[in-house]
Amino acid sequence: MTGTIVCKTSRLKALGGIRTRLVILALILVVPLMLDRVWLLEASRAKQLKQVANELSELAKHTAAAQREIISTVQAVLKSSAYIYAAAAREGRGCAILRASLSVDLPWIRSLSIVSPDGTIQCSTMPHIVGFQVGDRDYIKTVQNLHEFVVSDYILSRPTGLPTIVAAYPVSAVDGGPQPVVIAAIDLTWMSDLLGNRGGRQGVSVFLVDGQGTILATRPDKAHLIGQQLKDTSLLEAVILREINLDREAGSIAFTSADGEREAVSFARVAGTRARMIVTMNQAGMLGDVDRDIRNTYLELALVIVLTLIGAWYAGERLIIRPIRIITEMAHRFGRGDLAARAASTTLPREFVPLARAFNAMAAQLAARQREMVAANDRLTVIASLDVVSGLANRRGFQSRLDFEWMRALQSGHGLSLLMIDVDHFKAFNDGYGHPEGDACLSRIGATLAAIASDHAGFAARYGGEEFCLLLPETGAADALRIGEIVRATVENLAIPHVTNTTRVVTVSVGVATVTPGESQRQDDVVEAADTALYAAKRRGRNAVVEHAPIRTTAETVPLAS
Ligand code: GH3
Ligand code: MG
Ligand code: MG
Repeated sequence: MTGTIVCKTSRLKALGGIRTRLVILALILVVPLMLDRVWLLEASRAKQLKQVANELSELAKHTAAAQREIISTVQAVLKSSAYIYAAAAREGRGCAILRASLSVDLPWIRSLSIVSPDGTIQCSTMPHIVGFQVGDRDYIKTVQNLHEFVVSDYILSRPTGLPTIVAAYPVSAVDGGPQPVVIAAIDLTWMSDLLGNRGGRQGVSVFLVDGQGTILATRPDKAHLIGQQLKDTSLLEAVILREINLDREAGSIAFTSADGEREAVSFARVAGTRARMIVTMNQAGMLGDVDRDIRNTYLELALVIVLTLIGAWYAGERLIIRPIRIITEMAHRFGRGDLAARAASTTLPREFVPLARAFNAMAAQLAARQREMVAANDRLTVIASLDVVSGLANRRGFQSRLDFEWMRALQSGHGLSLLMIDVDHFKAFNDGYGHPEGDACLSRIGATLAAIASDHAGFAARYGGEEFCLLLPETGAADALRIGEIVRATVENLAIPHVTNTTRVVTVSVGVATVTPGESQRQDDVVEAADTALYAAKRRGRNAVVEHAPIRTTAETVPLAS
C-alpha cells in the first residue's frame, strides 16, 4: 500500500515536473513582453499626468490673470472716478458732475456709486439706488480702514437684489481725510464669459471663488453654481493650506473629493483680491483611456498567462505524458507476458514513433524467442522422456502418459490395463554375450513392443533395466491378457539366441493388471498389481503371462494364464 502511494507520488512529481517546466518556459517567453507593455503604459500614464498638471497650472494662472485684468480696469475706473468726484466735490457739485461725466463704457461695470462716510449711497449711475445704506458691508469697513482699493466677496446687492461683487476705492486715497468711497458693482456674468472659452477639456472644472469659497464665476454650462459654495469646502481649505505652506499665490495639489474621486487641482490668486481661480480635473476622466489600456493589458496578461498555462499543460499531456504513458503501459504488458501488445504509432507524436517502433520490434523479437524457447523446451521434454537404448519412452515418459490415460479413463469410465514385461535371465545373457549385445537385444525387444503398442492403441515404455511396460487404454482384462500373450509369443518368435535359457532363445515374462480408475484407486495400485503378476509369472517358470486378480478383490487367488 505504502509502496503504491510512494510510487504514485513520485510519478505525479515526474509528470508535474515536465508540465511545470513547459509552463515556466512559456511564461519566460510571454511575461517579459507583457510586463514591458505594462511598464510603457505606466510610464505614459505618469507622463500624461504630469503634462495635465502643468496644463492645469497654466490654465489657473492665465484665467486668474484675465480676471485680474477685469479687476484692474475696474480699479482704474474707480480711481479716475475718485479724482473726478474729489475735484467736483470741492466745487460742491460732486454727484452731479460724477453722473454727468462718468461714462461707464465697460460692460462688466454694472453701476458706479459714491458712498458717503456714513455709509449711504450718495449718488449713483443708477439713480434709484441712491439712499441705500451699505455702511455695514465688510468692503466699506475695510476700505475706510485701509484707504486702498478693495474687492468684496460675493454679495447680494441690496438695491438691486442681484448677486455681485463690489470693488471700492476711497476718495480719501486721492484727497485725504474722511471721505466718501467710490464703489463699482461688477457683473459676474462677464467674469464667467471670460472663462467660457478656457480649458474646454473633458473632466476639467474652472471656478473663480471669493475668500469664503463662494463661486463667483465658472463656465457658462455651470452657471447655476454661481453664488453657491464650492461643493467641497475642504478643497478651499486644502488650497489655502497649500498657499500658506508654499507662501505663494499659485500651486497645485492632489485632492480626493467628498465622493471619493481623485482630483488634480491647480489654483492661482487673483492678484490684489481674496478671489482665487481654482481649476480641478478628475483624474479618472483625465487618465480614463490610459487607465483602461492598463487595465486591459493586465487582463490580457492574466488571460495570456492562463492560456499559456493551459496550453503548456495540454501540450505536455498530449505530446509527452500521454505517449510516455502509452509506451509505459506497453512495456508493462510485455512484462506480464502479453507480447501481442503494440503501440499504434499513428496516435503518437512524430518524435515518439521511433521509440514505439523499437518497442514493437523488441516485442516481435521477444515473441519469436519465446516461441523458439517453447519449441526447444518441448524438444527437451521429449528427449528427457526417451530411452536411447530401446527407442521407447523412459520411466518418466511412462509416468506422464499414465497420468494422462488415468485422467481419460476417469472421465470415460473405461478400464485401463498395464502389462509389466521382464526379460528372463537377462543377467546371464549379458554375462554370456556381453553388455553391447544385451543393449542390442533390449533394442529389438523395444521395437517389438512399439509395434504391438501401435497395433493395439497402446503405449510402450522401458520401465527400467530389462523391464518394459505396455499401457493399454480402454482395454479390459481379457484383451489385456490376450495382448500379453501376443507380447510373450512375439518376443519368443524373435528367436534371439540365449543358450542359458531353457528355451534357448530370449523370452519374457508378463504380468497383467486391469483397473477401472475411480475415487478409491491410485495409479500405484495398478503398477504394483502388474508387478505382482509379473513376479508370479517368474515363479511359474518364466516365458509366461500371469493376470493379476481384479484389483479391488485382493483376496482372490491369482488366476494363471499361459
Ligand atoms: P530374472 O529372469 O529373474 O529376471 O533374471 P534376470 O537375470 O533377468 O534378473 P536380474 O535382476 O538378476 O538381472 C537383470 C540384469 O539385467 C542385470 C543387468 O546386467 C541387466 N541389465 C539391466 N539393464 C541393462 C542394460 O541397459 N543393458 C544391458 N546390456 N544389460 C542390462
Ligand atoms: Mg528384472
Ligand atoms: Mg529379468
